[in-house]
Parts: sequence; C-alpha cells; structure tokens
Amino acid sequence: MSDSSKPLQCLNRLFASGTPAAAPGRRPGGGIHLGTVAGIKIGLDYSWFVIFGLVLLSMGAGYLPNELPDTSIPAIWVLALLTTILFFASVLGHELAHSILARINGLPIEGIDLFIFGGIAKLQEEPHSARQEFIIAVVGPLTSFVIGAVFAVLWIALRPISSPLAVVAQYVAEINILLGVFNLIPGFPLDGGRVLRAIMWSRTGSLRRATQVATSAGQFVGYSLIIFGLVALFVTQSLSGIWLAFIGWFLLQAAQASYQQLLMRQSIAGVKVREILSTTPPIIPAHISVHDAIDHYFMEYPASVFPVMHGGQLLGVVSVEELRQVDYSARATTPVAQVVRTVAEDHFVSADDDASTALEKISRQGGGLLIVMAGENFAGIITQQDLLRLVQLRLQLGH
Ligand SMILES: [Zn+2]
Repeated sequence: MSDSSKPLQCLNRLFASGTPAAAPGRRPGGGIHLGTVAGIKIGLDYSWFVIFGLVLLSMGAGYLPNELPDTSIPAIWVLALLTTILFFASVLGHELAHSILARINGLPIEGIDLFIFGGIAKLQEEPHSARQEFIIAVVGPLTSFVIGAVFAVLWIALRPISSPLAVVAQYVAEINILLGVFNLIPGFPLDGGRVLRAIMWSRTGSLRRATQVATSAGQFVGYSLIIFGLVALFVTQSLSGIWLAFIGWFLLQAAQASYQQLLMRQSIAGVKVREILSTTPPIIPAHISVHDAIDHYFMEYPASVFPVMHGGQLLGVVSVEELRQVDYSARATTPVAQVVRTVAEDHFVSADDDASTALEKISRQGGGLLIVMAGENFAGIITQQDLLRLVQLRLQLGH
C-alpha cells in the first residue's frame, strides 16, 4: 500500500450511526430524495457525496490495488464502486432496521438521512418505554452483525471461485462488524448509549437521570475520540486522526443537544397547545392592501404574525418580513394576497396536542411558526419564541 493512500483508507473505518429523535441541528438541511423503502423515505444529504467520494477513492486507489495487484485498473474501479455501494447499502440496512422496529413499536418515522458521518433514522418521537428504546437501539448493531456474517459466508464461498469478489465480500463483512461494534460503544446518542439509557431507565425509572448518565458517557466518548484522534494525527501523521476527532466532535454535539432537548421537552410536559395561545391574532382578509394591513392590524395588535384568509380558506400568514418586501409607493395598491407566505401541511398543529409535540415540530422544520387549529377552525399561531419563552420560564422557575 502506498503511503498516500493510507489516511484515506481508514476514513471509512468509523461511522457514527444513531437514532437521534433528539438531536436538533444534526438533521442535515439540504439534500436529495433517493426513494422510499418499506414506506420509509430515504434522503441523501449533500455532505454524503463527500464521504461517498472518499470511500470510493480509498477503495479504488488504495485498498483494492493493494489487495489485488494483478487486476486491471478499470476492473479495480468497477470493484471499488461495487464495494462502496455495498458499504452504504449496509449503513442503510442498519438504519432501516432501527426504523422498521420503531414503526412496529408505533413510533412514527420521518425517514432516513445518509450524511457525512453515516446514517440517521429520524424518529418523530422518543421511545415511550425503556423496553422500546432497548429494542429499537439494539437492532441496528445486530443487523450490521448479520450483514457481516452473510458477507463472511460469501467471502468463504467466493474464495475458490473469484478472488476479486472474495476481497469485496471480505471487506463488506469486516466493515459491518466494525460498524456494529463501534455503534455499541455505550455513549449516547450511539446505539450503545441508547442501550445504556434503556437499562438505566428501567433501573431508576427516571428517563431524565438515565439520559444524564448516557449523555455523560457520550461526552466522555466524544472527548476521548477527539483526544485520541489528535494524538494519532501528531504521532502517526495520519490524517485519519482528524476523522476520528471529527466524529468525536459530532458525538459531543449530539450528546449535548439530546440532553438539552430532553430537558426542554420535560419542562413543558403536560402542557397543551391551547394553553400557550395567549392571544389569537385577528384574521387579515386577503384582498386588503399591504398599507391597510399595516395600519389596521400590525399597528393595532400586539402580534407579529397574522393569518390571511380568503373566502373562509386560510391562505397562509404575513409578518413584517413579507410586508417589507413591498416598496413603500406600492403598498396602497398591492393586496396582501400577493405577499402571503403559504404554510405547509406539516406546519399545522391541533389545539389539543401537547406543547412538546409543537416544540418537536417547530424545531424540526424551521420557519419558526405553527398554525393551531381547533377542529376545522383556525385557533391561533404559535411562534418558536412563544415556545422558547415558555420553556425558559418553566426551567427557571422549576415549574
Ligand atoms: Zn444505529
């Protein structure tokens, strides 16, 4: 193996994979929709293409030429592509196992994202019991071990027939075993950390205490990887140290965010959405001008966002942001309907829902507000600030 290929080759060795329903900011923003498997949406974050390229490169320029010195270069790259695809299919299989078990347990799944550090199965809710948490967490590494075992059998079967394919099978077997072992490290939000949390949860009966322990372990793992990675970087001059440090940093962030989100959710447990609605802003008719909307609504009522309706139908909302886009001279002649911000389906919440549901929804989708409905009728608007103010108040007062 040439020296230059060594750092890259190790890049794919460690992959974080978690099921963080509670990891705000960790859910990658942009990306492409790859398809749907078993009713579960698969997304590719743009950052994933970086790791795909790196793995492909390390396979085609390092690992495979080293293992198969007599194979032609075009054949090497075909094998490299095959290995890389099998590798990411394995990561996907791991996440699918989490997702399917979550769904069997009645937890809605938003989908799976593949991104630079591996994959995330996006649960819309936290597991309701320690048992659920345990099963959903442990099935991921188990799946990786099963895939690893299948490819190990393939490797043995292929050895006498085709050494290139046997090398591919061996690699996929090894990487899946590593994936399983790494994810069993007991630091939240790794699967092993979730297993630890489930055990603590069932022992102490306190989700908060269990999360505290599991996230502390997660932070310890995160710091350890960072230190180990940096030491590896300086001692061995190997760039894979940077990769380890990055994964450590990612885990650290995710562990902290998960714990904070749990605290936030718990602080508003039992509060219903209708209780947060202090004032319901009046509805602006879509046909009036921007000028009139400013004069008769924005200047007169304390709200910052107003619903806009036309013929009994909710068109969307307007805030100062939308109105500002209209030139001063055109405000008297531009109807509000022209600047209304449409509200997507998933920005609606029921007045009877829990406030924590609203918090999860609002932190998941950005945009900063939710439309509250009481049955078929518009009941009000909740903004992110409203929710955060409530959380802060309750945390400070220990309410
Ligand atoms: Zn996992």
